[in-house]
Parts: sequence; C-alpha cells; structure tokens
Amino acid sequence: MVQLIWEDFLKILKQEAGSQIVETWFKAANFKTWNPDEKSVVIEFPNQFVSNWVQEHYLSLIKTHISRLLHVDTLTISLTTKNNANQHDRNIIPASVIQEKESTSIAIVQSALVANTKNNFSRKQKYSVINPNYQFDTFVVGPSNSLAHAAAYAVCQGLGRVYNPLFIYGGTGLGKTHLMHAIANEVKKKKEKAVIRYVTTDQFMREFITSIRFDKCNQFREKYEKIDLLLLDDIQFLSNKEQTQETFFHIFNTLHQKHKQIILSSDTFPKEIKGLQNRLQSRMEWGLVADIQTPDLETKIAILKRKAENQAIKLDDDVADLIASRILSNIRALEGALVRVGAFATLTNQPITLDLAKQVLLHIPEQKNDGIMLEKVLRTVAKHYSISLQDLRSKKRQQSIARARQIAFYLMKKHTISSLQAIGNYIGGRDHSTVIHAIGKIKEYIDDDRILESKVKMIEQDILTG
Ligand code: ADP
Ligand code: MG
Repeated sequence: MVQLIWEDFLKILKQEAGSQIVETWFKAANFKTWNPDEKSVVIEFPNQFVSNWVQEHYLSLIKTHISRLLHVDTLTISLTTKNNANQHDRNIIPASVIQEKESTSIAIVQSALVANTKNNFSRKQKYSVINPNYQFDTFVVGPSNSLAHAAAYAVCQGLGRVYNPLFIYGGTGLGKTHLMHAIANEVKKKKEKAVIRYVTTDQFMREFITSIRFDKCNQFREKYEKIDLLLLDDIQFLSNKEQTQETFFHIFNTLHQKHKQIILSSDTFPKEIKGLQNRLQSRMEWGLVADIQTPDLETKIAILKRKAENQAIKLDDDVADLIASRILSNIRALEGALVRVGAFATLTNQPITLDLAKQVLLHIPEQKNDGIMLEKVLRTVAKHYSISLQDLRSKKRQQSIARARQIAFYLMKKHTISSLQAIGNYIGGRDHSTVIHAIGKIKEYIDDDRILESKVKMIEQDILTG
C-alpha cells in the first residue's frame, strides 16, 4: 500500500512540478515506512545533497499530498539517506517546524492557511501570504507570455473593471502562479486596504469541505464574498467536484456583481476542463482568456540569465544556451537545471563551464523542440496516409484527409505541450475548438476501432523512433 501511495504521489508531483523534477529528485527515492500510530513517514533518498534539496524545495508538496493520500491531517515527515541510519533522527522534521522554516514558500503558506481555517473561521485575514519573489519585475516577458503578462498588468490598473475574470491558462511551470502572485503583490502595493486572497483550488476545496464538516458553510461563503481580489490557482482541479463548483459559482457571481476582481488559472482552456458545469465554464470566459505558451529559446535564455543574476551565479552565454536548449518547455525545470549546475560548481569548487554543465545535465536527454515535433507529426501522418502536407493543411473535407488531420491534431497534443490554438494554427489556422473536437473524435474512434488504434500506434512509433 505504501508503494501505491508513493506512486500516486509521484503522479501528482509530475502534474504539478513536471516530469523533469520527478526524474531528477524523486526517481531514486523510496517511501520507506509509514507509521499510522505516530502518523509519520520516512522517505529515503540516495544521498545527502538530494535529500537537502528536496527538503528545501519540495517538503511542503510532499506533506500536502501524502497527508491527503494517507487521509491524515498532521504528518511528520523524515527524510533519510541510504547507508546513513544516524541521519534519520537528525532529519525528523515536525510539520510545525516545516511551516516556520519555509515561510516564504507558497505551498507551505497554502497548508498553513488550511490549518488556519479549521480553527479560525471568523478570523479576518486581510492578506493571504503572497510570495514576495514573484513580482512583475522578476517576470521575463517574451512572445510566449506577453499577452498574459499585459493582461495581468492591466488588471492591476483597474481592479474589477478591465478584465473580469482574467483567466490565465498554460502548461505546467510556465509562470501562471508567478503572474498571479505578481498581481497580488502589485495590488497590495497600490491599495493597502484591499482584501486579497490567493488560494489554490485544492486548498479552496479542502477549506470548503472542512466548513461543511463544522457546519460553517455560510461563514465560508461570507469570507470569500468579502474579498476585493480573489486569485484561484489551478482550477482544473474543480473537475467533477460538484458541490465545490456550486459554492464557487455563487461566490463568483457575488464578487463579479460587486466588481471585485477574480483571477483564475488552469492548465487548459475553460471549455476543455472536463466535469466542469457549463455555466461556470461560460463565466470563466466572460472576461479575458489569456494563454501562456512554451517559451522560445531567447526567452528561456533571458530567464536563465535573470535567475542567475539574482542568485549571483556567473553564467556565460554558451552555458545559458546549452541549458536553455536542453530543457524544453518547463521554466521550473529550467530553474532547477540552473541551480543544479550552480550547486555542482560550488560543491566541487569549479567555475561553471560548458563541460561542467554538460556533465551535470548528462541525464537529461536532448529534447526535441515542440516546433520540430509538430513538423515531425505532420510529416509522418502525411506519409502514412500518402497525402501531401498541403492537403493536410488545407480545408479539404474528404474523409481520408479529414481523418489524417484529426490524427495529427491528436498526436500533436499528446507529444508536445503546444496549446490547442498553436496546434490549430500549425495545421491551417484552425481554432482551438476544432482541435478539441478532432482530438475527442479520435479518442472515441480508437476506443472501438482496433485497426485505427494500431494504425495510430504505428504512426506514433514512427514519430518517436524516426
Ligand atoms: P505554473 O504556475 O504555470 O506551473 P509557476 O508560476 O510556478 O508556473 O512558474 C514556475 C517557475 O518558473 C517559477 O519559479 C517562476 O518564477 C518561473 N517563471 C515562469 N515564468 C517566468 C518568467 N517569464 N520569468 C521569470 N521566471 C519565470
Ligand atoms: Mg502554478
């Protein structure tokens, strides 16, 4: 059972932090023990460096998710290392200490907030804690995020009047949470009295459930309806949570009517969030829907340089270029790679050279750029269906062409993190709803058509190995 919990946790972590993080820091970790009486778990890491890193950066995530998976409210987590039994005791970290230690980490703040609501429903909380490092100043703007950035900035200038709600969507680690905190920080500076609340959907949900348990639903709603700026992060997790959706719907309406600003984020477009009431979906599109796309190489390099500067890491152009080209799409992973390179250089007392960076990033496979992948999918599908690229991109509705096109949409979505709109643009300027429709159709066909299923598999194989 412990193993299953660990596997579930890794899946969640993959979604939240990206597979790079899981590969780098958690692949060699073991969930050693779970003691239900003491409500404590021991997780073992291959060495002290990894263990320290995880402790500093991911302890809160581990705590949040594992306590949920184990259905406990409080959890003591110990990180230990292989061949180092003594380390064990030293590393026992009571949950309360974790919260103090990492008080700047958002995730910790989130769990602290949940803890707060339990005993203290009526306590007026003017600000939820907002990460002071996530500012507009520290957000690097490039073509991939300029719309979301501009919209976020505009919202701060006319709270509740410009775009309401502002809906930011994009893949994991592309800066949604950063932008939300930047808005909160900016508004906090401008309007001292504004009641701001940043909350993840997960936290919102748990808070709501607790309110039901303590028969405090009204207080819950009242608390949220008093807010001037509500930032609800990762609302894709509202999926299939009927009651939470219902309550959020009412809170949304009240805030919107009062011209209070609502900011939402999700990993997909509102219509794509499965198991979300239509009326909520349509409300989410009332204001502005802005996406963040995968950054291009220049933006990635600019981000790396900015982060290096902040951390006083000396980073030459060729090294920045190497890291940026190795790490495809996820900016969180980009930061992780930079820190690993920096840490390794410090630990071994060497300057950061191209060779050193290559050595540190050795395990990260050379990744194919999304653009290259899109092209590869298109060419391979065209080849398998013996049609031209031009036909695939055309408006022709002939059945075999239309089917091939749908498969191309499906495989592009599966193997890249390009947005639906970007994929639509790539194949003859279709809008995102056409792409969603096509993907849905192929999923349906594959379910009951073995021949088609194996054909798609074959194409996929060809794409990945070709
Ligand atoms: P998301 O919420 O979309 O998963 P985050 O906002 O948590 O992503 O971003 C992941 C990391 O990448 C954060 O540390 C954030 O500061 C950084 N980041 C993302 N976009 C940018 C950017 N444009 N400039 C600087 N840092 C960025
Ligand atoms: Mg986020």
